[in-house]
Amino acid sequence: MKLLITNDDGVFAPGIITLASFLAERGEDVTVVAPDRERSSVGHAITLTRPLRLWTMPAGPYSPKCTVFACDGTPSDSVMLGLEEVIPEPDLVLSGINRGPNLGDDLTYSGTVSAAMEALILGRPSLAFSLNCRETDEAQHYETAAAVAAALLGFLRGSPLPEGVLLNVNVPNLPFPMLKGIKVTRKGVRLYEGKVTRLKDPAGRSYFWVSGRPEDKLEEGSDVWAVAGGFVSVTPIHMDMTHFPSLETLAGNGAEKINLK
Ligand code: MN
Repeated sequence: MKLLITNDDGVFAPGIITLASFLAERGEDVTVVAPDRERSSVGHAITLTRPLRLWTMPAGPYSPKCTVFACDGTPSDSVMLGLEEVIPEPDLVLSGINRGPNLGDDLTYSGTVSAAMEALILGRPSLAFSLNCRETDEAQHYETAAAVAAALLGFLRGSPLPEGVLLNVNVPNLPFPMLKGIKVTRKGVRLYEGKVTRLKDPAGRSYFWVSGRPEDKLEEGSDVWAVAGGFVSVTPIHMDMTHFPSLETLAGNGAEKINLK
């Protein structure tokens, strides 16, 4: 398969190097177009106020079978440039493997998932991969997530995605043999406790860190529940954010009869 691979951790991040190299070594035709630096949590941002640069890179830490480009934009810029300028007709666009999970309500912050959304908007099927690790974890099992990606690609060959649907895949940070299996899930609920921390700089002025501890609702069938149980979570995502039941109730309650004169 012809694959375009991007991420939001930057072109030198271990997750994308592992994913691209693993798939290239298994015979896939891999082209990487990724941000030249970390762009985590930029969401779906694109760059409109300055020019963008795109350049080829030596394979370096990648398998020599990979073709690698860097760009000085966001993950969504990378997908746009990749599809317009580098590899117009890939069979699939992959984003990741992200360092850290993309579960529940974090999807809209995620540069990783947004890059997959951009591919979808541009008419290409896509998958986002994230490893449920923390920066402080001693072992980060990107090779597990890469093996999951290879298995899913094999599955999708016989059972392609419907148009307009991407898969958001979250992989537990475990050695491959310790995975319990795969669960097809819905987006769950992940809220944060202590999202903003106020601190003081040496001059006594306040500054702020946005972070927080995740508080998951482990509802059966959700992405957070699957990963917490040692399963790979595969969530089908589409881009229509319309809340269809409200179409009728809003109109029925008179929203269209509000007097604007
Ligand atoms: Mn990231």
